[in-house]
Amino acid sequence: MSDLSTLSSNATAAEATEIESILELTQRLIATPSENPGGDTIAIAAVACHALTHPAIEIETYEPKPGCVNVVARVHGAHPGPRLVMNGHLDTYPVGAREFWTQPPLDGLREGDRIYGRGAGDMCAGDAVLITVLRSLADRQEQLHGEAVLTLVADEETGGRFGSAWLIDNVEHCRGDFVVNADAGHPRVVRYGEKGVMWLRLNSLGKAAHGAHTHLGDNALDSLMAAVQAVQTLRNRECVIDPIMRTAMHDVQSISEQVGGKGEYDNLCGITVNAGAFHAGLVPNLVPGSAEAMLDVRFPGPLSIADIKKLIGEILEAHPKVTWEVMPGSATEPAFTDPNHPLVLTFLRHARALAYPDAVANMRIGLTDTRLFRLAGMPAVVYGPCAHGLGGPDEYVTVQDVLKVYRVHRAVAEELLGLQGVRTIARFSEALPAGERVGALSNAGGSHRD
Ligand SMILES: [Zn+2]
Repeated sequence: MSDLSTLSSNATAAEATEIESILELTQRLIATPSENPGGDTIAIAAVACHALTHPAIEIETYEPKPGCVNVVARVHGAHPGPRLVMNGHLDTYPVGAREFWTQPPLDGLREGDRIYGRGAGDMCAGDAVLITVLRSLADRQEQLHGEAVLTLVADEETGGRFGSAWLIDNVEHCRGDFVVNADAGHPRVVRYGEKGVMWLRLNSLGKAAHGAHTHLGDNALDSLMAAVQAVQTLRNRECVIDPIMRTAMHDVQSISEQVGGKGEYDNLCGITVNAGAFHAGLVPNLVPGSAEAMLDVRFPGPLSIADIKKLIGEILEAHPKVTWEVMPGSATEPAFTDPNHPLVLTFLRHARALAYPDAVANMRIGLTDTRLFRLAGMPAVVYGPCAHGLGGPDEYVTVQDVLKVYRVHRAVAEELLGLQGVRTIARFSEALPAGERVGALSNAGGSHRD
């Protein structure tokens, strides 16, 4: 048995039992590998379904591509009300180079305040939290207003086409009035939006020759590097961001950067270009006749995919030896839920009461499946535990983070579904003192918003 003394001292006995079961479930999920690429979620979906077994929970599975099993679990309330969709992903990053792990990557080892393993924070712990929230709602089905739907999906790490995107398009009850997600983050920051992304492939053609006879060749890598550096000038471009959004991000910068890292604000407000891969040449004494680069470009709203393509096209006109394309399936528009939306304010209020008194709400740099829900017109928030060592060796999540994330998700779900007394949307929006609200957004075009 685990040591309950690691839990917050004000946990009730019932809550301590719930937390213990979340931790054990997190360990079981980690110990059921679902590395993607590969992306087989059959076994981990079975673990999730077992954990969801409850007389008031209807469970369905959908497998739009062999191996990509998505779990949809549903609790119908006894009274009319909104639909809350909780979203988590079952696939994980690959373990990577095992020699760099000092802890077992796929055992779900719990030591002190930590649970180690690939997917611990991204997002086995979040899945276990959402499963336990749904069970807790199911226990009170008779008092529930509306319904709760938990979607535990495949294919998140590779774009979501056979996971969340498929469910949104094909399963009506996977579209919610509110969408919440417990993917990796930090319980001090509620995340309401994400930047846009586009991956580019650049190819240059030159003329191969011996490296001693450079006058007879045309070095394709030289032309490619010049083109990449030209695209990188996008980093210096001043982006015209809705002033209310800029203010909202600026106001929370000092706290958000304590968890997101110094420079997060500038990153959120600007275009980033990462040259992630180069392929060219064989040996020093040959002139490469062809070369390829792959770039990751991220951009804030109201810039759109079309805007970025236009800018890149204009830049690369001066580089006729280089052709370029947007890598298929890689582009996604920036999307955010109004930071003043009742869902965001409700999360913020509970995060301040139950996790950190100075919790803030902000944009998120990396992508989650919540973007797919936002782009389909649904308000969505990410609130999850810190994934220490995210994507690298010795990934772990802390018990304290899991406790905070569970308390806040449970409180938000209870409030939205009428278990804390039925509230109206108008009363939600009065949840914070006026001085802490960021004001209604103007309706500037270009970027999607909910
Ligand atoms: Zn994730």
